[in-house]
Amino acid sequence: MIKNYMEIIVSEVLDEVIKNYDICKCEDCIDDIKSIALNNLSPVYFLASDDEGEKKAFLLDRQRRISVLAKVAEAAEIVINNDHNKNKNEG
Ligand SMILES: [Zn+2]
Repeated sequence: MIKNYMEIIVSEVLDEVIKNYDICKCEDCIDDIKSIALNNLSPVYFLASDDEGEKKAFLLDRQRRISVLAKVAEAAEIVINNDHNKNKNEG
């Protein structure tokens, strides 16, 4: 089994970023942000049998988290301006 670890970082970072945005937090909007961010980042796959330390180091890499944060923020800015979010603000 393989897993895209970039997706894990995006999910973690997204949880943090979303708190700072006045944005709809429904599943569709979260998925929108996630997909936009992931399309702008290269996937990084690990095997289930790969070294746990290596996976952990990947997830905790500070520089990587900063670049992911930038992409997630970019994606959030796009989604916050879509019709669904605009309509929300008009009640
Ligand atoms: Zn929504």
